[in-house]
Amino acid sequence: MIDGDDDNGYALVCDNCGDDCGESFVTFFDAVEYKRDRDNGWRSVKDKNDAWFELCPSCNQPGIIADFKGTKEREEPQMPKRSGDELARLAGMDTSEFEGF
Ligand SMILES: [Zn+2]
Repeated sequence: MIDGDDDNGYALVCDNCGDDCGESFVTFFDAVEYKRDRDNGWRSVKDKNDAWFELCPSCNQPGIIADFKGTKEREEPQMPKRSGDELARLAGMDTSEFEGF
């Protein structure tokens, strides 16, 4: 994350280990520029809830990135599998609700 305010400056902090990049920035966008520079080794990853996390160079590794992206959860089915009978029952419930109006 990028932490700070206009009065005290901004720091780029790793969301995995909590280390900062060792520099402070005058503006939020200075910190964004720093993390975008591939030479600095930082990486932004989006998790399964579309939240962004910043990873420092030592946390910028495939295993850690996969954890932050929630790929383990993603490999599991998003919806519980339902049998044909269950689907029919659910459809029936919906119909009966509509009939109540
Ligand atoms: Zn880190």
